[in-house]
Amino acid sequence: MKQDLIERFIRYVKIDTQSDDTSLSVPSTLKQLELSKLLLQELQELNIDSFLDEYGLVYGTLKGEKDSKTIGLIAHVDTALECKGGNFEPRVIENYDGKDIILNDEVTIKVDNNPHLLSKKGHTLIVTDGYHLLGGDDKAGVAIIMQTLKYFSAHPEIKHKNIQVCFTVDEEIGRGADHFSLDKFKADYAYTVDGGDINYLSYENFNAASSKVTIKGVSTHPGDGKDKMVNASLLGNEFNSHLLSLEKMTPRESEGREGFIHLDYIHGDVSSCELDYIIRDFDSKKLKDKKRAFLEAQKYLEKKYPTSVIEVEILDQYKNMGELISIDDACIQDIIQAYQKENINIEFEPIRGGTDGARITFMGLKCPNLGTGDYSCHSLKEYVDVNDMERMVKVLINLLSL
Ligand SMILES: [Zn+2]
Repeated sequence: MKQDLIERFIRYVKIDTQSDDTSLSVPSTLKQLELSKLLLQELQELNIDSFLDEYGLVYGTLKGEKDSKTIGLIAHVDTALECKGGNFEPRVIENYDGKDIILNDEVTIKVDNNPHLLSKKGHTLIVTDGYHLLGGDDKAGVAIIMQTLKYFSAHPEIKHKNIQVCFTVDEEIGRGADHFSLDKFKADYAYTVDGGDINYLSYENFNAASSKVTIKGVSTHPGDGKDKMVNASLLGNEFNSHLLSLEKMTPRESEGREGFIHLDYIHGDVSSCELDYIIRDFDSKKLKDKKRAFLEAQKYLEKKYPTSVIEVEILDQYKNMGELISIDDACIQDIIQAYQKENINIEFEPIRGGTDGARITFMGLKCPNLGTGDYSCHSLKEYVDVNDMERMVKVLINLLSL
């Protein structure tokens, strides 16, 4: 299987599929369709009932035993924008020696900065030329899912559950779930195969809101401002200080399961000032407290500066899927068993951001996230561990077999 997995992964990463956040088309770049079409062709060669829809999403269904559960698997074909995409020769490192990996004259993956590498000695790794993004996020996930399907297709004697797969586009620009359809994707629960370390299983993400604060001051001639001028920029500054005296956590202080308030943008002059924030917390009650702090800071300033106008707009963005999954966690229990059969110890890692899985969970389909063996994603120093990918194929085979 290993050689097949290596060739498959290389076949996928050699197709440039970067998405584009400035494009309004769907998908955002046509080149993503090149991989979508290849995947469709490969699914059809495996005799899997599949189609490519008008938004560039590929859906596939492999029927299992009658009355068995239907398990969904999702990965995205597009790659991140942080580094250059394009054609390059991936390098396969067999029997990794545990030392620094020199990609080119300028870029070296140092063991000191990548402690994960310590456990990779003897494994097969794949890296880039140091000029391009590898794109293991999420082509490692795509390859793992395709390899799993190939296994069941090649072994019709092995009884399995119903399998539903989807390869999405534009995940990296936050549009991955925009056209994902539960009419086309019918499952009891699903997993995004889009994480890093295979020891991490994630089913919690932030609850998220944003806030726009607009302050109107009173402008006068500076020489004539006594008890009249209300400088909106100074009020913006005071608003922020008061807010952070109520809710102290900013991203700089926050880690693990802690939330934060993040001032993302501030712009102002004497007459007006605008502040944009994002608000995050795993705990929905704590998110509410953070939102309330904005209203308290507003009241505080309104009272102190009655001639000013302070508008606070708060919008909910997405929610923690853990709150839904904890009500019925069959999707967690089943995957834990599948990991245990492969002797993989699992840690639950909260996702300090949003995921497509969270959006899909709130559409009505529970969708935790699984690791792929891809490390340092979104950077030139990205690498995949093929041994990890192989183990994840086995985990999925355990999950889906009856
Ligand atoms: Zn991803």
